[in-house]
Amino acid sequence: MLEGESRESSENETVQPSRPAPIALGGTLASKAKFLNAALETLSPADRMARLRRELRGRIVFTLGFGIEGQVLFHWICERDIDIDVVTLDTGRLFPETYVLWAETERRYGRKIRAVYPDHVALERLVSKRGIDGFYASKQAREACCDVRKTRPLDRALAGASAWIAGLRADQSLERRDAGLVSVDASRKTIKVNPLFDWSRDAVMAVVAANKIPINPLHAKGFASIGCAPCTRAIQPGEPERNGRWWWENSGSRECGLHLPRRPARAPSKPDEQPAAFAGCG
Ligand code: SF4
Repeated sequence: MLEGESRESSENETVQPSRPAPIALGGTLASKAKFLNAALETLSPADRMARLRRELRGRIVFTLGFGIEGQVLFHWICERDIDIDVVTLDTGRLFPETYVLWAETERRYGRKIRAVYPDHVALERLVSKRGIDGFYASKQAREACCDVRKTRPLDRALAGASAWIAGLRADQSLERRDAGLVSVDASRKTIKVNPLFDWSRDAVMAVVAANKIPINPLHAKGFASIGCAPCTRAIQPGEPERNGRWWWENSGSRECGLHLPRRPARAPSKPDEQPAAFAGCG
C-alpha cells in the first residue's frame, strides 16, 4: 500500500476486482502521482477521494471555494466521512451571498469549515499602497492583491500536506483542459488531485439537484464562476465559464495563482514586487 493504510471505512467504495500494485513507500512525488492517476482513473469522484485517503499518509487538504464543484465534493467528503482537512480561503472580498452559503453549508453538514486569512501586515501594506480597489489599476496590481489575499494563504494551508484536492474541471476553460486528474505541484511539494476533472457542469448540477446540495444563488443570475465580488461578473449564455473573472483585463489567463505553479523563490514581503511570470488569482 502506498504511504500507509487509511484508518477510515471504505464500505461504500466500489470494489475494484484487480488493484494496481502499490508503489513503495518513499517514492518521488512523480511516481506517486503516476500510481495514483492509474488507481483513481476509473473510479467515481467520491471513490477517488476515499481511495486517495487510503493510499496516502499525512494531511490531505481540500480547498473549498463554495462553487458548485466544491459543494459537491464537500457533500461527498461529509457523506462518506473521509478524513480530509477542509479549508477555505477568505479573501475578505467575497460576495455577501458566499458568506451566507458558507454558514448554510456548515449548518447542513454539521461541520465547521476552517478559514485561512491573509497575513494582516501584508494586507495592510497592500491596501495602504494601492487603495482598497487598487487591483483595477493594472495587471500587476491585481496580481499583487491575489498574491496577498489568496496565493500566500493557500501556501500556508498546504504547508506539509501530502495532497491537495481541488474542484477543477477540464471543460471550464482552455487553461484547465490539461490540468489532469492527478499531478504534481512541485513548487508546493505536494500532489494535486482534481476528482471532477473529467466531469461536465451538467453532471455536477445533476448531483446538486439530486441531493439538494446548497449552492450560491448567484449562479441563477448568470454567475458561472464566483470569486471575489469586485472581480467577478455574470456572463452571457455560451460564454466560457470563467469569462466573468477579471473581465477588465483584455487578454491572458482567467486563472489566479492558486492553480498555477508557484515561483521558486519565496514571495516578496512587499506587495508590488511581483515577477512578470506570475499569472494571478482564481
Ligand atoms: S480576485 Fe480581486 S479582490 Fe480577490 S484577491 Fe484577486 S484581485 Fe484581490
